[in-house]
Amino acid sequence: MSKSTKSIHKFGGASIRNLETTKKVAQIIQNWEEPNPIIVVSAKGKTTNLLEKITESFYRKDDEKWELLEELREDHLQWVEDLLGSRTNACADEVNNLLVEVEWAIEGEPRGDYDFEYDQIVSIGELLSSTIISHYLRHLGYENQWVDIRDVIRTDNSYRRAVVDWEYTEKMCASYLNRNTPILTQGFIGCTSENFTTTLGREGSDYTAAILAYCTNAERVCIWKDVPGLMNADPAEFDDAVKLETVSFQEAIELAYFGAKVIHPKTIQPLKKKGIPLEVNSFIQPDQEGSRIENGDDYSPLVPSFILKHNQVLLSIQAPDYSFISEKMISAIFKELDRFGFRMNMMQNSAISFSVIIDNNDHKLEPLIETLKQNYKVLFNTGLKLVTIRHYDEPTAARWTKNSEVLLEQRTRQTLQILLKS
Ligand code: ASP
Ligand code: MG
Repeated sequence: MSKSTKSIHKFGGASIRNLETTKKVAQIIQNWEEPNPIIVVSAKGKTTNLLEKITESFYRKDDEKWELLEELREDHLQWVEDLLGSRTNACADEVNNLLVEVEWAIEGEPRGDYDFEYDQIVSIGELLSSTIISHYLRHLGYENQWVDIRDVIRTDNSYRRAVVDWEYTEKMCASYLNRNTPILTQGFIGCTSENFTTTLGREGSDYTAAILAYCTNAERVCIWKDVPGLMNADPAEFDDAVKLETVSFQEAIELAYFGAKVIHPKTIQPLKKKGIPLEVNSFIQPDQEGSRIENGDDYSPLVPSFILKHNQVLLSIQAPDYSFISEKMISAIFKELDRFGFRMNMMQNSAISFSVIIDNNDHKLEPLIETLKQNYKVLFNTGLKLVTIRHYDEPTAARWTKNSEVLLEQRTRQTLQILLKS
């Protein structure tokens, strides 16, 4: 990496999940030659899940939220103490202030829309982690400027899946992210024109890095993970997963679209537009080469890639009078899926039935089904597994179908999708 390189680095929750990994991250940052990188961090470890649980409890109007808030407080203050040597310092004060914000948010009755409240609460995770990491780096002698990314990334008000206002964001990048000093900021969150916090969707910090790269014309984006790079399968599920060395933007978009967890699906588009390469590196073995995603049609080594999605729901929808599936009906179904915020993972139709596979979303599945039932006959099946294989061959396909009941199957030249009973 040359000194003049303009990089955006993103560290995910796993990389700052405990003291040991956080120290590793700090070491990596201190070793860079590049003087003024932009560093994006996610919430610590499983903090986002914890904040989600707090939001749910707030909505259930029970008291679990207070216990969970204590867990959040203890976890972060302990982290501060471990990194900075005490719980009474400027950093701890800032952390306490942020925790008070959570407290305020969950006091009383839920007021508005669930997704709105969710974003106000869950976004605190990134504010906490970035505050602590910024102080810790300074404590180690690595000067950096903490930036509230909500001053920079402007979005619309689609809470939990906010859409970026690129023009405004680009302008703000020019004023807030000038590179005279390293910048430390949050992934995942943005802000509406009315000053309400939004989030970009779970795992959205990668996308933040890509947004900032696009808007500042960075030369590369580096995502630091606990895996050696972009793998052909989730190593947690497949023990023979292999690292993909180079992957084209196109292929990465396909993999992310089908649910490969390594990169947030929206991350690649802005990078592809400007030809900004994305490196996926391991914070555990920072000296080893990771994966590189860039322009071109490369994909090496050329092995099948597997993407597994659990907790899938198959909805089969029919007109009540058994009439044929019409474009009108399909478009009405799509409209409801979109209104409830569901994303289709696969679809298929026969003469009288339209089938769609979606992720289960406990809050919204029932209302969706109830709404569809007003006009259609709806059958559904939950707890299914969707396997997507890119660059499949017959032997690998057979391995999957041999011992399981196949509910649906779909093939294109490059992609095979199989819906299985778990
Ligand atoms: N903290 C958020 C999440 O866990 C965003 C991210 O990690 O990228 O979904
Ligand atoms: Mg995360």
